[in-house]
Amino acid sequence: RAKALGGARTVVYKTWMDEEQRENDQLESDLAEAIRHRQLTMAYQPIFGLETGRIVACEALVRWNHPERGAISPALFVPLAEASGLIDGLTELTLDLATSSAAAWPDEILVAVNISPSQLKRGNFDRMLAKALARNGLPAQRLEIEITENLFVEEDEDLAKAIEALRALGVRFAIDDFGTGYSNIGYLSHMPIDKIKIDRKFLTGIHEDRRQAGLLRSFLGFVDSLDMAVVVEGVETHDQLSFLADCAPSSLIQGFLLSRPIPDAELATLWPKEVMMPWPAVDSRRVPA
Ligand code: C2E
Ligand code: MG
Ligand code: MG
Ligand code: MG
Repeated sequence: RAKALGGARTVVYKTWMDEEQRENDQLESDLAEAIRHRQLTMAYQPIFGLETGRIVACEALVRWNHPERGAISPALFVPLAEASGLIDGLTELTLDLATSSAAAWPDEILVAVNISPSQLKRGNFDRMLAKALARNGLPAQRLEIEITENLFVEEDEDLAKAIEALRALGVRFAIDDFGTGYSNIGYLSHMPIDKIKIDRKFLTGIHEDRRQAGLLRSFLGFVDSLDMAVVVEGVETHDQLSFLADCAPSSLIQGFLLSRPIPDAELATLWPKEVMMPWPAVDSRRVPA
């Protein structure tokens, strides 16, 4: 009897696996099609100087609106592209879209693009990037590449060389999702990086848990001591903004409180003619120290 049950279970399990595999294959071929027909779009989320209220950069975030399934998160389809050989096409398309948008923005505003670690290590990336910049007439100095912290787990000569070569062209680098991986801090501290983006998980909970607040405070101090610019991601509330104004007024901030990611066409309404503060004057109320 046990054997019969086990057999049945195996069948159910197998059917389920086949089902999932089929869905995955379908999604993969839909993605290939969407890339080929340039059906992906970009949304842009502005990054502000906390003290100045000025937009210093916009992060380019890829969007896929699937004909049947609706919006699919890049957190789902970017890894799919990486695993299935579609990443070259995806990167090429997103670079083209982002550099073409940014070329029409005011000169002082950077475009930050997310590049998959696997892509950065492939030999064709520098050519791909140079092509996008040239085609859209965007100076390399206006482009910033965001790479995840996980890339810095161990020393990697090839990676360091790839970064150096791109920086020689004027491209800047930011470490994304800082604090979520297991990066080697010693190694990171001598990497040629311009900016660190502290993951939004450090902001959630600062008002409930004083250790969280302490952790964020010390991260901000650490980055400051490395002489790198810092972006705090995921600013959603005024309380969080006050906390940052209080302990790291020179940081850059990004989050739904200030602006959601929006289409390029809507960005133009945000370009400051004068300094503008999308938030009410920051008060200096202290959070528990
Ligand atoms: P990321 O680079 O850390 O991007 C920030 C994500 O946080 C975005 O999600 C953004 O919409 C979201 N976010 C921004 N402010 C807030 C906030 O205040 N609260 C909350 N809860 N979320 C906020 P999105 O667009 O879904 O992107 C997810 C991830 O997908 C990105 O994380 C990035 O790793 C990856 N990704 C997005 N676009 C691209 C791309 O063009 N190429 C590659 N390789 N990866 C991309
Ligand atoms: Mg990013
Ligand atoms: Mg991020
Ligand atoms: Mg993140």
